[in-house]
Amino acid sequence: MASLHTVISVIGSLNVDLVTRTSRVPSAGETLTSESFDIGFGGKGANQAVACARLSQTHSQAIEGSFADIEVRMVGAIGDDQFADEFLKSLQGDGVNTSSIQRISNQKTGVAVIIVESQNGENRILFSPGANYAVPAINLLHDDVSVALFQLELPLHVVLRNMKEARDRGIDIILNPAPASKLPDDAYKGLNHLIMNETEAAILSGISPPTSWDDIAATFVQKGVQNVIITLGAEGVYYQTAYRHARSNPGKLIPARKVEVVDTTAAGDTFVGGYAVAAARSKATPKIGAFDIDVAIDFAIDFANRAASKTVQKKGAQSAIPWLDEIPGV
Ligand code: ATP
Repeated sequence: MASLHTVISVIGSLNVDLVTRTSRVPSAGETLTSESFDIGFGGKGANQAVACARLSQTHSQAIEGSFADIEVRMVGAIGDDQFADEFLKSLQGDGVNTSSIQRISNQKTGVAVIIVESQNGENRILFSPGANYAVPAINLLHDDVSVALFQLELPLHVVLRNMKEARDRGIDIILNPAPASKLPDDAYKGLNHLIMNETEAAILSGISPPTSWDDIAATFVQKGVQNVIITLGAEGVYYQTAYRHARSNPGKLIPARKVEVVDTTAAGDTFVGGYAVAAARSKATPKIGAFDIDVAIDFAIDFANRAASKTVQKKGAQSAIPWLDEIPGV
């Protein structure tokens, strides 16, 4: 076991996905027989923790239990129901440290009931947050954390409280603001990495394309974000940094990998996890100068793109997230 390691804390949601596929959605009072039913573990927090863990080690390292140089710690809450033990076991199998997941009595684990219409792939989702909304708004970050990764599926005051804690302690903060909801200006101050898709960028900035990504990114940089990353699906990834913006340099567009797409579910979560792993690795490397920020981001986006391009080639959510040894060119 390596004695020196970097800790990524993922502070986020844990949900059980109950997925039913049907040829059509039943009308009120009607009962239909579904085509299939599946139970999967998810939630943006848990998915991104799994992505971080799998992308920082090979599958055999996880089976052997030998520690990678990165420790991924999931912080959140589950209930005291029948899903709880299986959820923890599944995360542990992926090499995620689950010791900071609280088990809350008299609460249910968060559940997303998902009805998929098989003809057009349209989803209808009913989310019951359960234990996720019982996470207390206290400091959830241990002393040894290097990178803190947040989404917006926990109560906002819990996220904001811990982002402030991370900022005060010099921990690198990555925010994936999904699902998008307006944030107070303060949330952006000192935020190291803001990673979002096109829809989230439009909602949070209040500006939609055709306005240029440079103008949209500028709204976040002006509020104090250092690196703005916008994922554009098959089009690739746009990024801008405060350093480039201050020198009137436009942002950069990095193309996506050209692959045969089967199912894009969890592509975004894989991208964020891959980026977090690369950010944690570069945090562990001494910095030489501001120029290196671009190099580090180019590297992180390239790694995240490679990882997400594997996810879109497989069906499913967590099951589609690749291990480090599956990433092309690594
Ligand atoms: P999702 O909600 O489907 O998980 P998202 O909307 O959060 O995804 P996207 O911008 O659609 O995020 O995709 C995230 C990343 O996944 C992209 O930046 C890219 O790296 C990869 N990706 C997505 N779609 C494709 C594609 N068609 N081909 C190659 N890579 C893709």
